[in-house]
Amino acid sequence: MFRIFTLVFIVLLSCSIHSQEILRPDRPVAFVGGMLIDGYEAAEPIHHSVVIFDDGRIVAVGERHNTPIPGNATVIDISGKTLLPGLIDAHVHVDLIGHGDYTRYYKFLQGTKRLHEVMPIAAKQMLRAGVTSAIDLGTPFQILDLRDKIRAGEIPGPRLTISGPWITRIRWPGIPPEYEIFIDSPEEAATRARELIEQGADVIKVWAGLTEEDYRAVVDVAHQHGVKVHAHLYHPEAIRAAIAAGVDVFQHVGSARNPPYDDDLLAQITHNNIPIVQTISHRIWVYPATVAFPERLYNPIHKKDMPPDIYAEVIDSFNNFHRLSYFYDIGTETRNSKVAARQFIEAGAYMGVGTDAASPLNFHTEAMWYEMSALVESGMTPIQVISAATKTNAEILGQFEQLGTIEPGKVADMIVIDGNPLANIDAMAHVEIVVKDGGVWYAESAASGPVIEIGHAF
Ligand SMILES: [Zn+2]
Repeated sequence: MFRIFTLVFIVLLSCSIHSQEILRPDRPVAFVGGMLIDGYEAAEPIHHSVVIFDDGRIVAVGERHNTPIPGNATVIDISGKTLLPGLIDAHVHVDLIGHGDYTRYYKFLQGTKRLHEVMPIAAKQMLRAGVTSAIDLGTPFQILDLRDKIRAGEIPGPRLTISGPWITRIRWPGIPPEYEIFIDSPEEAATRARELIEQGADVIKVWAGLTEEDYRAVVDVAHQHGVKVHAHLYHPEAIRAAIAAGVDVFQHVGSARNPPYDDDLLAQITHNNIPIVQTISHRIWVYPATVAFPERLYNPIHKKDMPPDIYAEVIDSFNNFHRLSYFYDIGTETRNSKVAARQFIEAGAYMGVGTDAASPLNFHTEAMWYEMSALVESGMTPIQVISAATKTNAEILGQFEQLGTIEPGKVADMIVIDGNPLANIDAMAHVEIVVKDGGVWYAESAASGPVIEIGHAF
């Protein structure tokens, strides 16, 4: 069964890649002279490396002296910089752009009427931050159009895996109804999960209030279709139920309001090798970073990216941000999240990386490096975090055969950053070139030399 799904997947992926040909250079490209981190945690970086890609695929990886460069290749000198796999964010919201208050945001967007205006902004910002694949957990099905436009190469953005609306027993006041599928029995949970998959969901997201039987019903249907189930989890009881039901990916655990978990629960999660996506930075980092440097909220990039009325509304939502309801409990959340994050890391959990961007003040432009930095501060090494955000996240996607590492045969997804992230993970903030599906995108700071001839400006 697994093999059939893999085969179907590869065929589908090949189609989607084919449609992006228009964005690709018409000849091989060689990145030469940079430090290569290939995504494997225990591998040494390759210094003065050569990586060649052609027609959307990586064709050669090595050192300068043993990797011949084809005569017709465009050579891009990346001396002094670092090359690593495209980042995969295992928890995003492409319908959000960092606005401070959900209720007010949806009122401004007239429910979901104006979602189509904000989603491309978010997608472009993610790609510019080096995110070449992302799992969107909870945008209404307007996202299908965005996902397909990105696939077709019509607009810049990461390759999206999407859940559509989430399944819950608890209504969230203040958000439009298109966001939620409300259920009150396991049978209904199964039916609605099946409908979501038929409508185009790539994964299922289960939100709050579900019972173990609900989880089990959703997991059964999802697995019959080769689809993974991601659960939004905080409370120990919910986590135990999700373990028993076979939920595939645990989102948020180890963050927010919950005090640290007991050793038995940690052992169950780690010994079952269940991937954890903590999304800690929006709890432990974004708020203190904004208190320390509120100027970050007024980065001119947002003005450049957004139409004037959306920009004005987003900026206005930041006034007195300490009073926003999202941050009412931020003191407790920060203290507990720090402890819980460290717990999972020390227990040897199977760690993925996700940001929950763009929750309030957690912009797509920065969320990924904030999260990676927060994980390093919580006890991971830089190479552990880089491998988690690339290789492990590709495993979580179920697409490791195609994505997540830089090696011959894989999809050409990679980023060039200024600096050495192994010495200082904050170097991840300085993404200069992004290659996605073999198409080359470059930031203003990298707009010189042959990259301009073959690439596209962000
Ligand atoms: Zn989320």
